[in-house]
Amino acid sequence: MTIVTPDLVQLGAVARDKADAIRLAGELLVRGGVVEAGYVTGMHARERTMSTYLGSGVAIPHGTLDDVRFIKRTGISVVQIPAGVEWEAGERAYLVVGIAAVGDEHVDVISRVAGLVEDRALAQALVAAREPADVAAYLNGTDEPAAGEAREAPLDVELVLHNQTGLHARPAREFVNLAKTFQCDIRVQHAGRTVNGKSLVSLLTLAARRGATIRIEARGPDEADALAALSAAVHVGLGDGRDEGDAQAAPALLVPATVGSAEDDPRLLRGVTASPGLAVGPIHHVRAPQSVIAPEAVVGSPAEERARLTDALAAARRELGELRDRLAERAGAAAAGIFDAHAEILQDPELVSEALHLVEAGDTAARAWKATLDRRAATVAGLDDALLAARAVDLIDVAGRVLRILGVGPALVRLPDYPVVIVAPDLSPSQTSAFEAGRVLGVCTAAGGPTSHAAILARALGIPSVVGAGADVLSWPDGTTVVLDGAAGTVLGEPDASEQSAAEAAIAARALRRRVEAADCWAPAITSDGRRIEVLANVGSAAEARLAAAAGAEGIGLLRTEFLFFDRVTPPSEDEQRAVYAAVAAAFGGKPVIVRTLDVGGDKPLAYLPTPPEANPFLGLRGLRLCLARPELLRGQLRAIVRASPAGTLRVMFPMVADVSELRAARALLAEIAAEVKVPPLEVGMMVEVPAAALLADSLTRDVDFFSIGSNDLTQYTLAMDRGHAMLAARADGLHPAVLRLVQLTIQAAHAAGKRVGLCGELGIDPVALPILVGLGLDELSVSVPAVPAVKAQIRAMSYDEARALADRALSCATAVEVREKAASR
Ligand code: PEP
Ligand code: MG
Repeated sequence: MTIVTPDLVQLGAVARDKADAIRLAGELLVRGGVVEAGYVTGMHARERTMSTYLGSGVAIPHGTLDDVRFIKRTGISVVQIPAGVEWEAGERAYLVVGIAAVGDEHVDVISRVAGLVEDRALAQALVAAREPADVAAYLNGTDEPAAGEAREAPLDVELVLHNQTGLHARPAREFVNLAKTFQCDIRVQHAGRTVNGKSLVSLLTLAARRGATIRIEARGPDEADALAALSAAVHVGLGDGRDEGDAQAAPALLVPATVGSAEDDPRLLRGVTASPGLAVGPIHHVRAPQSVIAPEAVVGSPAEERARLTDALAAARRELGELRDRLAERAGAAAAGIFDAHAEILQDPELVSEALHLVEAGDTAARAWKATLDRRAATVAGLDDALLAARAVDLIDVAGRVLRILGVGPALVRLPDYPVVIVAPDLSPSQTSAFEAGRVLGVCTAAGGPTSHAAILARALGIPSVVGAGADVLSWPDGTTVVLDGAAGTVLGEPDASEQSAAEAAIAARALRRRVEAADCWAPAITSDGRRIEVLANVGSAAEARLAAAAGAEGIGLLRTEFLFFDRVTPPSEDEQRAVYAAVAAAFGGKPVIVRTLDVGGDKPLAYLPTPPEANPFLGLRGLRLCLARPELLRGQLRAIVRASPAGTLRVMFPMVADVSELRAARALLAEIAAEVKVPPLEVGMMVEVPAAALLADSLTRDVDFFSIGSNDLTQYTLAMDRGHAMLAARADGLHPAVLRLVQLTIQAAHAAGKRVGLCGELGIDPVALPILVGLGLDELSVSVPAVPAVKAQIRAMSYDEARALADRALSCATAVEVREKAASR
């Protein structure tokens, strides 16, 4: 359904004032048959209670919940006002977007509107647009191919149905679900009849049984992808497996490939899992990151070299900022934050002054920078703490970036133009960030550990990866075919035909599962016996929130606001924060967005917020404790949240609460601000991540509207195991029965008081933990964006009754290992 039709767009309008602009947007909706006139009155009324100014010259007037009765269908109007109109003190609106929505169909359009707030250039382009159709096309996200564009001859495929029941009910449904994920037109031909491949009923009427030959035709922009995916799906059995008696039997759908059988197989190298997933392909060697230096063509005076160094440092900072932003879109804010740490290194006063000192003494900019960073990297590499020692590679990476800008450093990695499995002694974060899933099938390093920044990036980018595989892999020639199994931490060289096809079939099956999950991502997560669990997303920016909306998230369960505060010398202003919070809220229409107040301090210090060194930072001035100690910071943030609240449904959540006194102090400040700004009170929740909070959950329920369990911290504090400790990683398991009992206490206390409980830690994406968490009675889960469709699909496939029985059994176990065994044996 098209939400913004050209007749709902008015260009070159003039408005006397805000009310006049709202009238224009409302009248377009009335004329377009979207709403009845009563809705426009509602738009004015809503605006009087709260401003709908979004930022960057965009306002989004809309009616109240009561006015939904005036809406005939979902539609969005746009009034372009080139001279602008004053919306609120000091803010002019140039694009007035009138929203009338029932249901969810408009969420994508709203995401694009919210995107304008951050992308001023794009907003300006729409203010300058000359054709209503251009504005509508941008907002609808419909970039049709240019008329008359040459089309290649269509590809069709002919396939034999080897699965047990042919195109019968369930396999046909798998086929249709997959087909619907493509834009192109898909037809299926059998026995002289051709039907629509996206219609289940039509497909069933073909009565194509096992052994039948079908022909799939695809016509449209993504026809090649559609045919490849549908062929793979048919090949692996469309969900009911291939017939056992079939001579060419391949593994049934979703059965993982076993890679390399014998323990002593010389072709099999064992390393450590860095990112799960399978890859099959030829290897391509990449050199280790080094701060090498090429002969220098130009050598200047100390003053010139000084200027070259400071210019190169500034250019490197700019590059890192751009890299971080691009990566945040692809891999999320947390992974992209690695490059904030690199930018921090560039600003390290000791490093910079040491390098400048060498320049004064006669070194060139490049030599001085290299000598300084090499020395520091050698010191870090020699540290006893393995986790810190691994950070030497970050220093070498930053050194190399600046040297490259100075024209003497290592060139960027060049990859072949066909998909490969990368093999390297070790990789830097910069090298890894340039890899794209699809182009890079997998990554294997001889050295390195799973907590390295390169491993974190590979995980965030969804590239299967094995680290610490040993030096032997470096002797395999370029082009050697391998099967890399990220989950098992193995790499098999020169697989035979059956090993290779087993792995390929498993890859196809996993890709199919992801596609089917993605196709169903909008459907609610309801267990087979009717219990609904809301699935929301954890994000760190407005860009990520838009990805979350597109992935089927039912809101934001955790907006990690700390990312706004890192990598800068002063805190973000109230207005800057407000624009981000409003953009996130707008990306979700009326769905909830839970904004967690600043969760830094101790282990995550801020340059502009010096705190005394602490012996145990995780037990120190963190989260809400720090904010209450620096109330001006919390006040600014709460004001920004409250002011952004008209853009959607914002809720506030406080982190690291240990008892009610902290919570009441924070709530009092919020109430004072809401009264100042004159907006209705927002819902308030707290994270349950300190055991004390779980134990006192019953009394805390009086002071909150909801709880969200932070299983990452709750696990570390319950088990007294540092969450970043490499050697304790396997034992710091959130499925420890002690943690589960605290989760149960929290849920019971909340439900007794009629309050909701969610969970926003990593435990929510562990497929073994998920049924136990659902069985304990959670109302919602908030997970990383890529996990949303899979978590929803897994919930749909489980029964609440069975999950409850499993949770009961888990609570009576003695160890996390026992819980996992119970979960596996059910
Ligand atoms: C948690 O502790 O589980 C959580 C979600 O917060 P963070 O990981 O940001 O500490
Ligand atoms: Mg936490």
